[in-house]
Amino acid sequence: MSKRKSCKERNHSDCESGWQAKFMNCKWDKAIGCHSGNNSPPVVENNNSKKKHTPLKSTDVQGKNYGPDIDDCTVPACKSTSNAFKTLVGGGSKTSLKRALPCPLLKDELGRNTWSLLHTMAANFPNNPSNDDQSKATAFINSMARFYPCKHCAADFQEDIVKNPPKVKSRIDFSIWMCEAHNRVNTKLGKTTFNCDINNLDLRWRDGGKKCE
Ligand code: FAD
Repeated sequence: MSKRKSCKERNHSDCESGWQAKFMNCKWDKAIGCHSGNNSPPVVENNNSKKKHTPLKSTDVQGKNYGPDIDDCTVPACKSTSNAFKTLVGGGSKTSLKRALPCPLLKDELGRNTWSLLHTMAANFPNNPSNDDQSKATAFINSMARFYPCKHCAADFQEDIVKNPPKVKSRIDFSIWMCEAHNRVNTKLGKTTFNCDINNLDLRWRDGGKKCE
């Protein structure tokens, strides 16, 4: 997987070119070079009168920073559950009580729920999809990759589906493609991979077997 360059690492020619730069909203400014955000960033003068770039952050209503740059992904969907786990085992803190209430999804919860939808959708895809079914399924995956709220996950997934476009010619093709896509994420995260045999996939995501009756 190619390393993602931040806006600041880009030179003039690749500042605004390529999907990564576009995705990150990289903009070229003569005075300060490549930067992120839709507006020109503020330029401040230091003692030597050199121009310095202060990264822009957009701010939500609660005063939290939800920066436009991919490297500044601070929404819950980008956060790991490890800290939430610590607060839970820490016992009875205000944070753990708060997490027991309905909360925005953290990265792993979002991931599990999303994979559940994707595998279940693939497991129930038509055996002989129409052209329209096929193009809608492909569009669904492309849209999901674009709007997936964990930004670095989305960026990698976008790259992945360019290299491995969705296979939507049949239910079996789609199920196996989904499994392999999930396995590439599993491998990246150092997790064990899943056996993508269709019988195994159907047992997990469609039929359930005896234990689920
Ligand atoms: P999950 O990986 O969520 O799996 C849920 C269940 O699916 C498993 O319990 C298992 O029964 C089944 N399963 C596992 N593998 C397969 C397979 N190959 N085929 C079929 N079924 C399977 N997290 C990051 O930290 N970084 C990322 O870059 C990242 N990218 C993601 C991209 C996408 C498109 C999605 C949907 C999620 C991404 N995630 C990412 C989240 C990550 O994949 C996991 O969902 C999260 O770490 C929780 O993992 P988990 O071990 O609970 O099980």
